[in-house]
Amino acid sequence: MTEPQPAAEKRFKGIAVSPGIIIGKARVVDRSKVKIFYRYLVDDVHVAREQERFALALRATEEQLVRLKNGMPEHVKEHSFILDSYLMILKDNMLCDATARRIVEEKINAEWAIKKSLQEIRDIFSQIDDEYISNRIHDVENVTERVLRNLSGQPQESLSEVRERVIIVAHDLSPADTTELNVSKVMGFVTDLGGRTSHTAIMAQALEIPGVVGLAQATKEIRDGDLLIVDGNAGEVLVNPDDGLIIEYQEKQVQVAKYKSAIARTSHLPAETLDGHRVRIMANIEFLEEVTAVREYGGEGIGLYRTEFLYLKNPQLPDEEELFEDYRDVAELVAPDVLILRTLDLGGDKFMADLEITREMNPALGLRAIRFCLKEPEIFETQLRAILRAGAYGNVQVMFPMISGLQEVLEAKAILEKVKGELEAQGLPHDPDMKVGAMIEIPSAVTVADILAQHVDFFSIGTNDLIQYALAIDRINGDVSYLYEPFHPAILRMIRQVLEAAGAAGIDVSLCGEMAGDPLCVPVLLGLGLETLSMNARSIPLIKTIIRSLSMEDARKDAEEVGRLTTADEVRGYMVDRVRGLFPDMDEGGALPFWGVG
Ligand code: PEP
Ligand code: MG
Repeated sequence: MTEPQPAAEKRFKGIAVSPGIIIGKARVVDRSKVKIFYRYLVDDVHVAREQERFALALRATEEQLVRLKNGMPEHVKEHSFILDSYLMILKDNMLCDATARRIVEEKINAEWAIKKSLQEIRDIFSQIDDEYISNRIHDVENVTERVLRNLSGQPQESLSEVRERVIIVAHDLSPADTTELNVSKVMGFVTDLGGRTSHTAIMAQALEIPGVVGLAQATKEIRDGDLLIVDGNAGEVLVNPDDGLIIEYQEKQVQVAKYKSAIARTSHLPAETLDGHRVRIMANIEFLEEVTAVREYGGEGIGLYRTEFLYLKNPQLPDEEELFEDYRDVAELVAPDVLILRTLDLGGDKFMADLEITREMNPALGLRAIRFCLKEPEIFETQLRAILRAGAYGNVQVMFPMISGLQEVLEAKAILEKVKGELEAQGLPHDPDMKVGAMIEIPSAVTVADILAQHVDFFSIGTNDLIQYALAIDRINGDVSYLYEPFHPAILRMIRQVLEAAGAAGIDVSLCGEMAGDPLCVPVLLGLGLETLSMNARSIPLIKTIIRSLSMEDARKDAEEVGRLTTADEVRGYMVDRVRGLFPDMDEGGALPFWGVG
């Protein structure tokens, strides 16, 4: 007779947003949207009253948000910017002024008017081909929801009132909901909706409570009081597991805790291989507030500052002073380490609400990044002025995204020189000798890397796009994501080619795509010759641990070995065995999936 296998009543797979394993009781909370059934026209006499109602709802929402912000636990205060961004949305022209105008012009009730404004903003955001940015629409939706609740007087259960140790199960949680979570009671959360880059995910990580989002049916299938296992590493939720499964996961918990503390203890040690080769580990950021976390995780500077965020915060373009102040603050915080500012990488003019939107058939192949900047030199010059000026306050370098060939580098550099001349003439402090880099993320740039290397000070390999363009896979299309493979031999060969071209010209190379933070890829990247990797800050401690467990000699052998393999599956299989072999005790403890290995 065969032994019965441990089982659970139901299993769900979602998106892991905050690591850790928890076992506890479900508490299903209703965060459903306010139902607005009534839309009505208001006559002239009542328009003023409707506007007043709207103004009162805005004020009440503002007071609630300020209260929430002031009541945030001390250790997550650094994330209060989430609530600040809500407060800014509350004052946003497109949401609030437009709604107030609509009430008058269209003579409709406030609820209907704000819903129409929200739809208009949604339409604009839906044109933006960037997961992080388009996810920000959820912030606008959350604020709108709060205003609607205040308009309708429908109260919402406060999560701060949760009294027992439970796992929250909700359709969706807004970042503000997350700030209400009582972390001494709430063990973790699972939601139907949500994405990897949401602010809710950021908050959950800061609170260090495990979370899985994007489960679709969780609130339908899980009942209050069900026993749950939430695996925030693998993105799995098990409902009413049997004893065998509970014991299995308890063992995993012990292993994970053990390895987590071991990794954290060493995160400030240098990333140095067993045979003494030093690797520089930098971080990718999207906004200023992340710099503190970079330091905490042991990052050595910023290898990629994605500067799009400031352009999308408001419907109007940011001015030079706003950009300069932000870049200067980051540069000062990071100094003496390097800050690499990437110039604007947005598709077309999609982000400018006040311009006519042109929808491109193929946005990834359209007027993106440097192409857009060269077509709109004024916007580009403003950003370059701010970058050069920030250079007077730290160790700043600039790099251009989506370079397809030399012509773009020459044109971008010519504009940079022109701007330098103007700053000089105006007597404004700036860095006249700022290093200039090119992102290598289009296959044509790989092919002509030897030519480009003669004209820039460094390369940064953007594998996220390089994989997309080399393998012809839309990186945001779920249907082809199974083909999105960093271990494709073509990608490994391209990285090697870029390193050879840079080596021959004597310029620096870093790699800043997601591959840099992938434990399976790191030995190969080192073996190929990369000495700088830039990644999401949270990956830093783990990647440092991997590097500290490797010898460079073996990493080179790995690179050679995988260079002979002919399919991505073979490479992956080889690397899984290899990384398992590096940490045999961890492999036995079953904690390797914690690292996304095997
Ligand atoms: C990349 O393409 O690898 C990269 C780092 O840039 P982004 O993900 O912002 O396109
Ligand atoms: Mg890119």
